[in-house]
Amino acid sequence: MNLILLGPPGAGKGTQAQYLIEKYGIPQISTGDMLRAAVKEGSPMGLKAKACMDSGNLVPDEVVIGIVRERLQKDDCNQGFILDGFPRTVPQADALRETLIELDKKIDAAIALTVDIDALVERLAGRRTCPVCGAGYHLLYDPPHVAGVCTKCGATLVQRDDDKEETVRNRMQVYAQQTLPLIEYYRKTGILYEIDGMDSIDSVRSQIEAVLRNDS
Ligand code: ADP
Ligand code: ADP
Ligand code: ZN
Repeated sequence: MNLILLGPPGAGKGTQAQYLIEKYGIPQISTGDMLRAAVKEGSPMGLKAKACMDSGNLVPDEVVIGIVRERLQKDDCNQGFILDGFPRTVPQADALRETLIELDKKIDAAIALTVDIDALVERLAGRRTCPVCGAGYHLLYDPPHVAGVCTKCGATLVQRDDDKEETVRNRMQVYAQQTLPLIEYYRKTGILYEIDGMDSIDSVRSQIEAVLRNDS
C-alpha cells in the first residue's frame, strides 16, 4: 500500500502515520523528520534547510525531491510506504510522479485531513515532540503517560521551535499558497480521499482504515 498523507501543519498526519506503520508494517517517509535529522547532524544540507524551517518557509524543492527519491529506492519501501509531509508543492508532486514511473510504483490513495484553522493553531500550540524517537504528543488530546516524558523511549519532550505562534502563522500561509493546490491535483487523478480531521484521533483513524479497506 503506497499512501500520501495530505493536510496542513497540525492536521494529524504524523499521528495517523504512527498507526498505519503498525497496522500495515510499512515505513513512514516524513520529510520534516528527515530534514530535522539533517539539521541535527549539521550536514551541509541541514545547514541550508535550517533557515527555511526556522522561518516556517519551505525548503527548496530540489533538496526534498532528492531526499525522497533516494529514500523510495530503499528495500523497505517494496511492501509500501506512507509519505507524510511530501509532496508540498506542485513541482514536488510532478517529481514524485516521474520517480514512481521510474521505480514502477504507484500511489494507491492520497488521504487529505481537513481541520479548521483555530483547531490547527491549538494543536500546534499543545504539540510536544520527542527529540530522540520523533514520537508526537499533545498536552490535552494525546498526553504521554508521564508528563514531559516520551512514553516510547523515556526522553524529555520538547516543543518544536517552529510550533511557536509567530512561525505557525507563516506556516499556515505557506500551506494555503503552495500545498493546498495539491488537493485538486490528486482529485483529478481520482485517488483523493477527504477525511474529517476534526474528529478524535481514534475516529480519524477508523475513517482512514475504512477508506483503505474499500480501496484495497
Ligand atoms: P501533522 O503531522 O499533520 O503536523 P500531528 O500528527 O503532529 O500533525 O498532530 C498535531 C498535534 O495535534 C499533535 O500534538 C497531536 O497529538 C494532536 N492531534 C493529532 N490528531 C488529533 C485529533 N484528531 N484531535 C486532537 N488532537 C490531535
Ligand atoms: P508539520 O508536521 O507540522 O506539517 P513538518 O515536520 O512536515 O511539519 O515540516 C517542518 C518543516 O520542514 C516545514 O515547515 C518545512 O520548512 C520543512 N519541510 C518538510 N517537508 C517539506 C517539503 N516536502 N518541502 C519543503 N519543505 C519541507
Ligand atoms: Zn521518544
